Amino acid sequence: MLCRFAIFTLGCKANQYESQQIRQLLESFGLAPVDSAHAPQLVVINTCCVTHTASAKSRHLIRQARRDGPATVVICGCLPAVETNELKALGENVHVVKNRCDLAAVLSRLVHTESTAPDPVPPGPRSAEAPRCSTDTFIRPQSDAKVKFEKDLCLSDGLPSLTSFQNQTRAFLKVQDGCDAFCTYCIIPTARPVVRYRNSEEILAEAAALVTAGHKEIVITGVHLGSYGQITARRRHWPTPDNPHLPALLDRVAQVPGLSRIRLSSLDPADVTPALLDVFCAHPNLLPHLHLSLQSGSDAVLRRMARSYTADDFRSKVALVRSRLDRPALTTDIIVGFPGETDAEFEETLALTQEVAFAKMHIFVFSARKGTAAARMQPKVASEVKKARSRTLRDLDLALQRQFRAQFLGETAQILIETTNGSPSGRAERYFEVRIADRTYRTDRTNKTFSPGDIIAARLQENAADSILATSIGS
Ligand code: SF4
Repeated sequence: MLCRFAIFTLGCKANQYESQQIRQLLESFGLAPVDSAHAPQLVVINTCCVTHTASAKSRHLIRQARRDGPATVVICGCLPAVETNELKALGENVHVVKNRCDLAAVLSRLVHTESTAPDPVPPGPRSAEAPRCSTDTFIRPQSDAKVKFEKDLCLSDGLPSLTSFQNQTRAFLKVQDGCDAFCTYCIIPTARPVVRYRNSEEILAEAAALVTAGHKEIVITGVHLGSYGQITARRRHWPTPDNPHLPALLDRVAQVPGLSRIRLSSLDPADVTPALLDVFCAHPNLLPHLHLSLQSGSDAVLRRMARSYTADDFRSKVALVRSRLDRPALTTDIIVGFPGETDAEFEETLALTQEVAFAKMHIFVFSARKGTAAARMQPKVASEVKKARSRTLRDLDLALQRQFRAQFLGETAQILIETTNGSPSGRAERYFEVRIADRTYRTDRTNKTFSPGDIIAARLQENAADSILATSIGS
């Protein structure tokens, strides 16, 4: 009988969101989450394949689960969805879910067919509340998940809406899935090829449930969030060049009672429209923080990446955002060492990132991902050159982060407390980290100890290496 499960998650916010759905589904079947020391009988590995490192980590987790067994292992997520022969000879009791639409059905079948088998005695301490497994729900698979690969064509994956996002103060809410833009470095259009979106009523209900569960901040997430409401990420196929659906959705989500803070996951510069910024201006709980993927500041590199904007397009969107929002935090992703990237092209990236003065950059060293067009492009950039460019950009990133934070010294910010080990710390509206010097803060009636999830006002006092030091003012 399967009664204890563990989930291991790699990758992006979409995967993390889906792992919470898997947890909730298994709990609804009567299983209890445990950590690996408590002998889970069912191990779900929600894989990522965005880079070779992510694939290797996914395979490592699979080998580890097999070694630590005996457990039924389910491998899902993006790695099985790409046909690159990276999952072979996995052995008995390993179920590979290639079509993500089948995941709920596969889990249901495993839980309910194995519910008749005897419960093996776990070697570690047993979960205090190991539950009895229920057998009243069985979701039928839409295809044979073990052997057959089909394009993911279903609109509903059978996984539940979330009622909580465990172990995080900030909840992710996935509203969109899939991308068919085929940027040349990206495997996602193979792993998540079908562009689809969720009904707004379902999203609003989920946002309200997450607020009820105590989440004060929600990150609206999608694989290609800017195409929310469309069935392709290729803008030229949209009825109008600007997408009205994302602003309309955000306008409604921002009115969910009790939802204090909303952020968005990554957007393309073209997703930033006057209508989107109107919604940000109308709702103070939409925080002044946008993550706009730049990837490169060189038009030639952007063309080789098949990105749909130029450096000047990016500049004008940044100007538009800054004309509407007060000192917004602009964060970004940059890839260094893309095939053929010359010193001059890298210098263009350096110049643009400096000009934009990003509040934070996520810097990735290009590594050829099998199954993508860029993996076949020549010439490759030598690895020592890639490392040197990455170091240069990281140094710039640290300096720009510090410069961004400096302008807020002496002001008050609202901090969502995330950790209370050592000094309490959390994120300000503009996403920089703030460490609080005090151990308690003043509410209307009393002094209160900080807890994760509290939002407190703090005076920003000192710019440290990676954060701002502050004193609390109260809730
Ligand atoms: S827009 Fe490009 S980088 Fe983003 S998910 Fe789609 S293909 Fe990948």
